[in-house]
Amino acid sequence: MHKPHSAAIYARISSDPTGQALGVQRQLEDCRKLAADRGWNVAAEYVDNDVSAYSGKRRPEYERMMADVRDGLRDAVVVYNMDRLTRRPIELEEFAQVCEAAGVRQVATVTADVDLGNDDGLFMARIFAAFAAKESGRKSERLRRKARQNAEQGRPGGGANRPFGYEADKLTVNPVEAVIVREMAQRYIAGESARAIAADLEQREVPTSSGAAWRSTTVRNLLHSARIAGLRSHNGEVVGPAMWDGIITPAEREQILAVVATKTATGRRAPRRYLLSGMLRCGKCGGKLFSSARGTERRYVCLSGPDHRGCGGITVTAPPVEEWLSAAILYRLDTPDMEAVLTGRYADDAHHTEQMSKRTTLEARARELAEMFAAGEISRREWIPARDSIEHQLTAIDNELQRLTGSNTLEQIAGHGAALREEWPGMTLERQALIARAVLDYATIMPATRAGRFDPTRIVPVWVV
Ligand SMILES: [Zn+2]
Repeated sequence: MHKPHSAAIYARISSDPTGQALGVQRQLEDCRKLAADRGWNVAAEYVDNDVSAYSGKRRPEYERMMADVRDGLRDAVVVYNMDRLTRRPIELEEFAQVCEAAGVRQVATVTADVDLGNDDGLFMARIFAAFAAKESGRKSERLRRKARQNAEQGRPGGGANRPFGYEADKLTVNPVEAVIVREMAQRYIAGESARAIAADLEQREVPTSSGAAWRSTTVRNLLHSARIAGLRSHNGEVVGPAMWDGIITPAEREQILAVVATKTATGRRAPRRYLLSGMLRCGKCGGKLFSSARGTERRYVCLSGPDHRGCGGITVTAPPVEEWLSAAILYRLDTPDMEAVLTGRYADDAHHTEQMSKRTTLEARARELAEMFAAGEISRREWIPARDSIEHQLTAIDNELQRLTGSNTLEQIAGHGAALREEWPGMTLERQALIARAVLDYATIMPATRAGRFDPTRIVPVWVV
C-alpha cells in the first residue's frame, strides 16, 4: 500500500469534563504523531468543538472532511478514536461507503487500527461503532474507565482547578510557584506544621491557584500529593509516573510520607495536656479558645490564624484558670441539682479506665512503629499492616469509649465533691476532663482589666444545670 500524501486528521471535543481533559489539542498532537510515525503526510486537519457525535447535531468540519474525501482530495484519515469519528452504526456505514468509493483504504486511530479495505477492518469498525452507540447510554462508566486510563497513561486529571506549581495545561512547571512548593516541603519535613505554613503564605500574600485562602488542608493536600513528585495517582493510589515533571525529589516525597505517617500514628488523638480544651470561649468574639504553649508556659488563646478565624484578642495562662474551674466543678458536684442531673447516667469506671489504658499502650506502639519506619529500621511493607491493625483496634476502643461517655453517669461522684477533691490531683487529665464536661457546659474568659495577678472574675462559667 502506498504511503498517503494527503491524509486528513479529524478531532472532536465533546462537552463532558473528561473530554475536555483529553481536549482537541491532545487529540491533534497524538494524531499528528501517529501520522508522522507512519510517514503519512497530513494535508488537512478538521476540528469540531463541543459537538457530540451522538446528539445528532451537525458537525460542520466532519461534513467538510467527508466532502473532501468524496472529491478525492484525501487518501487517508487519522482520528484519535473511532468514537471521535462516529457513534452511530449508520454513520459508520456512510463513512465506509464514501471511503470505499474514493479509494481511501487507510483509516488509523491512535487507540486501535482499522483498515476499511478488508472485511476484518470493516467488521472491527462496526463493532467499535456499535460499542460507542451503546456506551453513550452508560456515559458515567465510560468516563470512569477513561479517567482510569488517563491516570495509567500518566495524563493529568480532569479537575477544574489548576494545580499549584503548574501552568493551566497541568503539565508545565510554573517556576515561581515551584520554588514555593520546594520551600513548603522543606519546612514541612523539618517539622513545621501545615497550619504554620498556611499562615505564613497568607501573610506573605502568596496566591493559591484558585484565589482562595491558604488553609492547613490546602497545604497538606498539596504536599501529600503524588503530583508534585511527578507521579500520577488515581483514587488515592499512585499508578505510575506522570507526563509532567516533579517539583520535589523522590527522596523528599519519602520524607514527607514519613512525616505523614508519624502524624497519623501519634496525632490521631494527642495525649491531653490541657484540662479545659474545647470548654473555654473568647470573651471578645465568642470563639473557642485553643490550647497553645509559649515556651514552657501553657496558655489558652483566641487564635486568628487561617484555620480558627478568632479575633486573637484573648490570651490567658492555663494553670490559674484550671485551678479555679476545678475547684468550682468539685463544689458544683455537691449541689443537689447536679445529683439530679447525673441520675440515670452510669459510668462503668473500671471498664473505662481499662479501655483508656489499652488505648495508651496501642498509641505508644503505633508511635514506636512510625519512629522505626522513619529511622529506616522497618520497611513500608512491614509497617503498613502493623499500623493498620493498631488503627483498627484503636477505632474499636474509641467506639467503646464513645458509648461509655454517651451513657456516662457520674452518679458515684455527684454529691462526693469533698472526696473527689482529694482524689482529683491523682486522676488522669482524661478523667478530670470527663468529670468537668459532665458539669461545665463552657466558660467564657473575659478580657483582663488590670495587669498582675490573675483575676478570677474574668471566668464566667455556664453550668450544665
Ligand atoms: Zn476572640
